[in-house]
Amino acid sequence: MHLLGQLFAPEDRGLAVVTVEGDRVTAIDVASDPPSGAIGGPDAAILPGLIDIQVNGAYRQDFSDPSADVALVSRRLLEYGVTAFLPTIITSEPAAYGPCLENVNVTWTPGTARVLGVHIEGPFLNPKRTGTHNKAWVRPPDLVEVQGWLEHGGVRIVTLAPELPGADGVIRYLTDRGVVVSLGHSDATYSEAAAGAALGASLGTHLFNAMPPLLHRAPGLAGFLLAGHTSVSLICDGVHVAPEVVALVARIKAPDELVLITDALAGFGEPIGRYELAGIEFVSDGVVGRLPDGTLSGSLLPLNRALKNLVGLGVAPAAAVQAATANPAKLLGLGDSSGRVEVGRPADLVVVDSDWEVIATIVGGALGYERSSRSRPKRG
Ligand code: ZN
Repeated sequence: MHLLGQLFAPEDRGLAVVTVEGDRVTAIDVASDPPSGAIGGPDAAILPGLIDIQVNGAYRQDFSDPSADVALVSRRLLEYGVTAFLPTIITSEPAAYGPCLENVNVTWTPGTARVLGVHIEGPFLNPKRTGTHNKAWVRPPDLVEVQGWLEHGGVRIVTLAPELPGADGVIRYLTDRGVVVSLGHSDATYSEAAAGAALGASLGTHLFNAMPPLLHRAPGLAGFLLAGHTSVSLICDGVHVAPEVVALVARIKAPDELVLITDALAGFGEPIGRYELAGIEFVSDGVVGRLPDGTLSGSLLPLNRALKNLVGLGVAPAAAVQAATANPAKLLGLGDSSGRVEVGRPADLVVVDSDWEVIATIVGGALGYERSSRSRPKRG
């Protein structure tokens, strides 16, 4: 299989032909004489497959429900260029975690998005910063419960509030075992956030959402995440964070510290209407989900369009792509196999048009999605 397009991320290599054989990229050549039948074109771009580290659900599936159809979501996310993701389980009763963790432990098939493991957001959250999470199930950090999660395997990120009693031991325990701890849904002061990072936390979850605003005499968690060298995830749907502030964050954070997420909900890819997140009903307006009182509960904007939004704010395309590819890969310790288009690496690739819409998505060398071309000239 041959792909034709601009290769500009992480560095500019011009118009190129990328050859895929088996599950790997086997050649990258200057496109002086592109082979016929190549997917893409001179105006297309070939990107590393997009990686989304916070997907609560999509296509009417909710990963906090143990009956969610993970394979369905793995197939459909390719339409938006996502080749790997972390199903996210939000605050639930203790007994719910085992079945939900087992449910997302699926066998991967080439040509579908890879499930890289699970993001557990909650239940160790500050009760004042729950957002959509069910207050009844928010609880203090509990090492025994965490040990139970890890027995099921696949836990890659845990979002918690570092100021809670017992958080220190849980942060240390998780980071010692290679699990990324992310600070979020929190009222932490600057120093409490810094203490969490000193213990190993390396990410902040959906910066500015579910945390106090940055105040000049009380910088808090948001201030720490901006000033420190912790990665931050950001929802770039134009609603969760004002576009001007997204642009500001992109200027402040180092190029490898910004991670785009969707925080997608079960209503993702579906018509506007009512859906559920961990048993709580929300209303989708097609861009965001909200509780009846207006509280934001997540987003419905696909990752490729979040990328387009970021570029529209003046962020260099290569830096924006990095925020949805190499940066999440590095955060998860996958930097050697994901996030770059390179000879010898697994062929997880997406071909996009000049509007960032997906032409084709390849995972593990298999073409999982190709846009039907209505503009193809008719014969005769
Ligand atoms: Zn959240």
